[in-house]
Amino acid sequence: MTRQEAKDRIEKLKKEINRDRYAYHVLNKSLIPDEVLDSLKKELFDLELQYPEFITPDSPTQRVGGRPLKEFKKVRHEMPMISFDDAFSEQDMKDWFGRIENYLKMKIDQEFFCELKLDGLSVELVYDKGVFVRGSTRGDGLIGEDVTQNLKTIEDIPLRLEGDYPDHLVVRGEVILNKKEFERINEEQKEKGGKLYANPRNIAAGSVRQLDPKITASRKMNSFQYDIVVGKNVKTHEEEHGFLKKWGFNINPWSKSAHSMQDIYDFHRHWGEPDRREKLEYEIDGIVVIVNNNRIFDEAGVIGKAPRAAMAYKFSPREATTIVEDIRVQVGRTGVLTPVAVMRPVNVGGTTITHATLHNMDQIEKLDLRIGDTVVVSRAGDVIPQITKVFKDLRVGKEKKFKMPETCPHGCGKVIKEGVFYRCANPKCGAVSRELIRHFVSRPGFNIEGLGPKIIDRFLDEGLISDAADIFDLQKGDIAALERFGEKSAENIVLEIAAKKKVPLSRLVFALGIIHIGEETSGLIAKKIGEIAGKRELNIDDIIKSGRRLTLDELQTIPDVGPKVAESVYEWFGNGQNIEFLKRLAKAGVEIEPLRSTGISGKLKGLSFVLTGTLETMSREEAKKKIRGQGGDVSESVNKKTDYVVAGSEPGSKYDKAKSLGVRIISEKDFLELIGA
Ligand code: ZN
Repeated sequence: MTRQEAKDRIEKLKKEINRDRYAYHVLNKSLIPDEVLDSLKKELFDLELQYPEFITPDSPTQRVGGRPLKEFKKVRHEMPMISFDDAFSEQDMKDWFGRIENYLKMKIDQEFFCELKLDGLSVELVYDKGVFVRGSTRGDGLIGEDVTQNLKTIEDIPLRLEGDYPDHLVVRGEVILNKKEFERINEEQKEKGGKLYANPRNIAAGSVRQLDPKITASRKMNSFQYDIVVGKNVKTHEEEHGFLKKWGFNINPWSKSAHSMQDIYDFHRHWGEPDRREKLEYEIDGIVVIVNNNRIFDEAGVIGKAPRAAMAYKFSPREATTIVEDIRVQVGRTGVLTPVAVMRPVNVGGTTITHATLHNMDQIEKLDLRIGDTVVVSRAGDVIPQITKVFKDLRVGKEKKFKMPETCPHGCGKVIKEGVFYRCANPKCGAVSRELIRHFVSRPGFNIEGLGPKIIDRFLDEGLISDAADIFDLQKGDIAALERFGEKSAENIVLEIAAKKKVPLSRLVFALGIIHIGEETSGLIAKKIGEIAGKRELNIDDIIKSGRRLTLDELQTIPDVGPKVAESVYEWFGNGQNIEFLKRLAKAGVEIEPLRSTGISGKLKGLSFVLTGTLETMSREEAKKKIRGQGGDVSESVNKKTDYVVAGSEPGSKYDKAKSLGVRIISEKDFLELIGA
């Protein structure tokens, strides 16, 4: 191979490798397998070794190696390297836009460009005649450090530009480390017994500022460019991204133009979803919103250290402070009492939470937590929210110490201490409350389908609920914070619970789980309560009043209700714990549908029916509806008070019982006549 042939070969190899690099890192397309690319690089490396005079700064081989530096040269930025101001809410963003219009003294179009706010290290790259000549850190904004050698080890940064690039070009972007590489490096550190890094940004920053480029090269970093500072004037920021891409820079694929404030909020919400953030390969901590029109952007100028027409709209932090308003005791599935902090709603990790488990008494003592304290709540990834710190200096003297109750909140009696745990002495306590909750949300009750048995168990175990009334206090964030619950499913559950807060009185009565009271009897008791209250529209207070006025005799005038059932209802309303429960339902916003007027004055008013056998013209459910619709009652069993037994084909034992008691039995045809069908 002649010298000239070698030179041509080197040029071609560089071009080929560069094209593959561009396709792989920028277009996410693999043109050739990795092994093939490696062998091309090896050939280039060998040729350059032979003809060192042909090594150029833009050669792919120059990415690795280089001699360690004693210290970084200082670089003066051609334009100050500015940062962004932070916003944390929609209101902040609205205010920001208002400030731009105020400053410019005119209305401007709501045309923005939104980008992910990468959590990495900002860098500036300088290209002369398309060749990467200098890279620097932000430094103090005016003077940065020359980290050219280190930046050359990052494959996303082109050493030579493509296409129609300007003679002199200055661009800016971010160097980031993806999460997998972060884990790998920390794993490596652990094996070496070295110190662990707190987050990917720390490694990215530390690696770019390594005096030995080999260390930088050993860490696979990525880089996105997002800004043309010198070299090309274009109309919009969006176009800048287009040019950067054409020239061979890696630009972030998720950037998006926005045409209203709402678009901005949507983009922010979209990327703020913990699930979506989790799935991204790299860390982001918000979005960057830029007024897309570059002329307006320039006119708006700089305020302090930040451009007026750009804003970093951050995601809510994973740690926040709030106030503990109460400490409640929840009884879990196994009867263990768990103290749970009820907090002023606080946004942590993207969702509002109001509960944090305190695990046990020891934990409360360790934190020295009191009711009324200001605390730090943190939530990392899928872990449930924790109170990690108490600000004792913020106390005013009104804070209250918490004590475990001596009796079970469910009214079973004594609480026993077992190590750090407190347990209800009633071995069935947890199981009973679990059954009551299941019953409460079942179809004939509040019909909350999203709360299946497994989910109820989970909520009990985590201390989120301890009885059915707690269900209505659940916040989306409390649920989403649990492992394996996404934002979406949490939201669905909360929405469903809210939508089912209003029920017919009969279903509320059923849901209460009064012993011996099934679906049918619940309807009859509900009616009786309505009669006593003397009105159609009842609230829970009316139910409490009427329920407590029910006498045993009165209860026994209800069809189907014998002494045992009457006693059960009577006792239920006589129990203070149950009244407390009803009051909590009221406080949570549970409402009763107005009683049907037809039920009070109908053709069948005062008559009680029992259905047996199969009806031909309608289902049993339809028949029941028809009877109730005209003011009649339907019960499941025949007794002396039954007025009619409607017998379909193949009637059962109810038919025989009716016969023996002398109760009137009618055919389906008679029944249809009676109801006027
Ligand atoms: Zn108990």
